Amino acid sequence: MEVDDAIIRLREMKASKILLQIPDGLKPESFNLFNKFSKEFNVIISSQSFYGACDIGNMEVYRDVDCIVQFGHSEIPNIKYTKPILFIEYFYKQIELDDDIFSILAENLVKNVGLLSSVQYYKEMEYVNGKLKELGYNVIVGNVDGRMKYPGQVLGCNFSAAHSIAAKVDAYLLVSTGLFHGIGAQLSTDKPVYILDLNNRSIRNIQPDIDKFLRKRYARIEPAIDAKKFAIVIDTKIGQYRKKLAYSIYNRVKGMGRDAIIVTADNINPVDFQNLMCDAVVFTGCPRVSIDDEDKFSMPVLTPIEFEQLFGFKSNNKYIMDEIVGVDSYSPIR
Ligand code: SF4
Repeated sequence: MEVDDAIIRLREMKASKILLQIPDGLKPESFNLFNKFSKEFNVIISSQSFYGACDIGNMEVYRDVDCIVQFGHSEIPNIKYTKPILFIEYFYKQIELDDDIFSILAENLVKNVGLLSSVQYYKEMEYVNGKLKELGYNVIVGNVDGRMKYPGQVLGCNFSAAHSIAAKVDAYLLVSTGLFHGIGAQLSTDKPVYILDLNNRSIRNIQPDIDKFLRKRYARIEPAIDAKKFAIVIDTKIGQYRKKLAYSIYNRVKGMGRDAIIVTADNINPVDFQNLMCDAVVFTGCPRVSIDDEDKFSMPVLTPIEFEQLFGFKSNNKYIMDEIVGVDSYSPIR
């Protein structure tokens, strides 16, 4: 959807007050966008950073608006949004690539290529699909579950596009700048991932990143084995809200004879957890927070699946990446 389409939709829904959520990278466009939408609507721009389509902001801000217009992300279809939302996706401009950058695939005996991308690079993925076919590769684009809009799309919390074709591919080629997506796809399928870096116009195998990731991650989570007091966090963002999962972890901790509290958070702040004097945190919101922000916390912050693996509730001797398939309907009381 483009801005003009959004304006037509807003007219159709007879919206009067609207909230614009603009990602930091597009914030310089705020004045233009405000002026454009203000010709017909009463507009407020949220100054807060936001995570993506899983995060429509604080209800205090959007309670009074008729519609939210979010830029830069695609809808998460299986979220029951509490307000009408229009998503204005942002696709990076397609760039041409030389044939020879793809030779690393053939050199590593990859014939059947699973193609993945984060949503911003979706158009580029379509171009790469054609290119690989011209070069004689068998290209497969996986189907996605209800958390995703486009075939082949990956999020940092969902690799269903990779799972759906794992048995048919030799390796994945990920069109994205996000290393996290590639690590998740490889760890969740056991198939090699190559990243197409559009800045350098090069392709590389991410195995060294996987090795580094696992070493660091195990070192961070293993001290939790001795934790006596756990804070189990429910993130209140609409697309990260896994209350039932949080309570199941809480019950497991209590069942182990250790102490646990349930905590809600919108933006998780390391200082808050220091003040709670807990020994470990299990965070049920965005899996990226536990991992990307691990160095900001003084105690181990585990994803739910890491907790289950560490304490033997899941028997599997390989690391499992946390994925969000669906979320609970928001209700503040158990
Ligand atoms: S939960 Fe995390 S990875 Fe998933 S859409 Fe939200 S910000 Fe992205």
